[in-house]
Amino acid sequence: MRLKIIYDQRHSLHRDPYGRHPEDPRRVEEGLAALRASEAWGYIDLVNPPEPDYSAALMVHDEEYVDRIKRESSLGFHYIDPDTYVNEYTFEIASIFATAAREAALSSIASGEPYFIMSRPGGHHAGRRGRAMGAPTLGFCIFDYTSIAAKALFDNGYRVMILDIDAHHGNGSQEILWLEPRALHIDIHQTGIYPGTGGIWSIGGGVARGTKINIPLERGSGDSVYSWILSHVIEPARKIYEPDFLIVFAGFDAHMEDPLTGLEVTEDTYAMFGSYVGRLLERGEIAGSLSILGGGYGEGAITSFVAYVEAMLGIREQPVIGEEEPSPGVVSAIPGIMDLLRDAATRIK
Ligand SMILES: [Zn+2]
Repeated sequence: MRLKIIYDQRHSLHRDPYGRHPEDPRRVEEGLAALRASEAWGYIDLVNPPEPDYSAALMVHDEEYVDRIKRESSLGFHYIDPDTYVNEYTFEIASIFATAAREAALSSIASGEPYFIMSRPGGHHAGRRGRAMGAPTLGFCIFDYTSIAAKALFDNGYRVMILDIDAHHGNGSQEILWLEPRALHIDIHQTGIYPGTGGIWSIGGGVARGTKINIPLERGSGDSVYSWILSHVIEPARKIYEPDFLIVFAGFDAHMEDPLTGLEVTEDTYAMFGSYVGRLLERGEIAGSLSILGGGYGEGAITSFVAYVEAMLGIREQPVIGEEEPSPGVVSAIPGIMDLLRDAATRIK
């Protein structure tokens, strides 16, 4: 297997000129440099994204919001809320990766090859009109690449599973896909931190009820809890739903060294998920996969990114991790949510 990594050095134009913001170009550059030093590099094709098609963002965002980002961006560097900055390049850069998300999803399902987009700024907190589900800010995010990729796929008749392993709840993606039964969205995140959404009974609405699965984790949760979730939630849900495609919102900020979060995850969890993606592809259980870079603000994010990619390519062995249950409230809710997912999956088959 080879992995196509979509990279555009113009991402580094989106930056805080004072170097104070954690969402910094070094996140991508250092990750890529570390990957170059790995054996995995021999199995990677670095690909340029297509030129931006400004309509990609309009697939999931209101025109008013997209226009606002364009206007704010034209004003140069400033904060559009207490967390989120833009500069004169932000609109173009975010549009490049929005377009790349759409194209990579379609290329991957056509070729069966996995893709990874080195996207910046972030995506999963941006809802249809900006701030999502009552969140106080956009949380560093501009356009939601995840739901753009998902929409490109289900508009072409495919069922999509989204696995959001960023330590924060993907409230933007979830708001956009809330009523959409053609996207199963599983989101694992730390509870009690930004954006404050993603409770266990936040499960989607209307015909999509049961297709949004949120796993809120207590501070200090580590690899063994993630391992339990993979075998008791993610894989059973996948078998019920039978998606054609897997999108991973690959945030590496669950790592124990991350300065913004309080989970106790190591590289092993990321290797476990990378290996999971690789195995699903190899067995033909999914027809394609796209990983989209999410958060990750410390050294651990770099080593976790490398572990994820190496394990997907089979260079790093699948780690052996014990299992530990998350909180009792989560464990006891799972069977009921799986029943609702089964109903929803039956309706769209
Ligand atoms: Zn995050």
